[in-house]
Amino acid sequence: METITIVGNWKMNTTPDTAVSLASGIRDHLEGQKVAQIRVILCPPFVSLERVASALGGSDVSVGAQNLHSEPSGPFTGEISAEMLRGLAEFVIVGHSERRTLFAESDDLIAAKIEAASGTGLKPILCVGETLQQRRAGKARETVERQTAEGLSKVNDVSQTMVAYEPVWAIGTGEAATPEVAQEMMAAIRSSLRSRFGNQADSVPLLYGGSVNAGNVRQFTSQPDIDGALVGGASLSVDSFTEIVLNALG
Ligand code: PEP
Repeated sequence: METITIVGNWKMNTTPDTAVSLASGIRDHLEGQKVAQIRVILCPPFVSLERVASALGGSDVSVGAQNLHSEPSGPFTGEISAEMLRGLAEFVIVGHSERRTLFAESDDLIAAKIEAASGTGLKPILCVGETLQQRRAGKARETVERQTAEGLSKVNDVSQTMVAYEPVWAIGTGEAATPEVAQEMMAAIRSSLRSRFGNQADSVPLLYGGSVNAGNVRQFTSQPDIDGALVGGASLSVDSFTEIVLNALG
């Protein structure tokens, strides 16, 4: 059986103390459960990465960052580079819709961030997804194909990359996409990856994100082109997140 990946994106939530409690609670709850086929990645805020990474040391739970700057160092007050994340995080989320919308991140900038992450050995999780307006205008597929192609335009080897399809209208709304819609969009992403990366595309994990919960996760992970989930709100409690992880295999 293929591995299923479940990522928890904590966004701007938790303090370093509560982040450690949440991470340790998740680790303890999953320990001893039969979750060998599930890869769990927790993405706390930058300031908690070090403590969370150390709390999770020796466990099967991995750590990711939520963002990075595209430059290695320099006069970018308040920013964090890939180099700084090395050793603290194995993964990094890039191009989340909140970054695209609230921080005006363009596909070009996202491509530069992906390049910076890959060049430092961080494994990027590229987020793509259409707005409701784009979907209503019949542009969902072309939006997501463009975001995928442009986000990965500077990547030659895609083997360490994941792509998360997160329709903007489903994030934090309680209105998840239907599994059929998610599968249709994933198939489009897979085929756009194939046209660029050939057979390597088949091993790129594709995650669905947008109002995933313990009740719907299996509907997504049972789809042929969906290899896991990116979870926001429901990743902030030990019970709801671990239930998602345990239900992801059915
Ligand atoms: C997200 O932030 O990436 C996300 C999918 O959020 P939620 O699960 O809360 O919809």
